[in-house]
Amino acid sequence: MSPQPPKGGNSVIQYLTIALFITAFSWLIGRTFGLNKIWKDNQKIDKQIPFLLKEDQNDNYTLALCCNPIPGDDVVGFVSDNDKIIIHNKSCPEAIRLMSSHGDDIVEASWTKSKVLSYLIHLYIRGFDQQGIAHKITNVISNEYQINMRSINLDAHDGIFEGNLYLYVHNTDMLDTLISKLLNIKGVDTVSRKDI
Ligand SMILES: [Zn+2]
Repeated sequence: MSPQPPKGGNSVIQYLTIALFITAFSWLIGRTFGLNKIWKDNQKIDKQIPFLLKEDQNDNYTLALCCNPIPGDDVVGFVSDNDKIIIHNKSCPEAIRLMSSHGDDIVEASWTKSKVLSYLIHLYIRGFDQQGIAHKITNVISNEYQINMRSINLDAHDGIFEGNLYLYVHNTDMLDTLISKLLNIKGVDTVSRKDI
């Protein structure tokens, strides 16, 4: 007697059982033959699970150059064609565009606490020109926080000074502390983070 095709509701259950069996079997084969790394790598792009941004595994993701996110920023990931995750700040215009046009490629992302790498940030600073203010600003940056500077330019005119600081920080905690410390300098009126 030849096997009959499954009928009605049973067929769904049978197909699901077969699918489950194939999944479990391929997982077992993967584990057995040392392919669990590939399995793990695939798991990292499971869009249902928030993607953890670890500094020691930063070859798994790329920080978008349009918004240059740093650890602690509110970010979102997009899975690219080559299965890499591109991390944008949630407020980035490009991220907003991708969210509406490539909604299926979104993955939640969150940072792990780490203080290994340094990230370039741009601060705009403004205030009332005071004697020695440039020295006080660089002193806070380099002596008190030992923050590496890429460039600092300060310009004074008509009793007002303003400038741009390009600095390397580990994360937003460090950045927030630095900003409040700079705001404590007499004469400093505004310190705000800008696009690089
Ligand atoms: Zn971006």
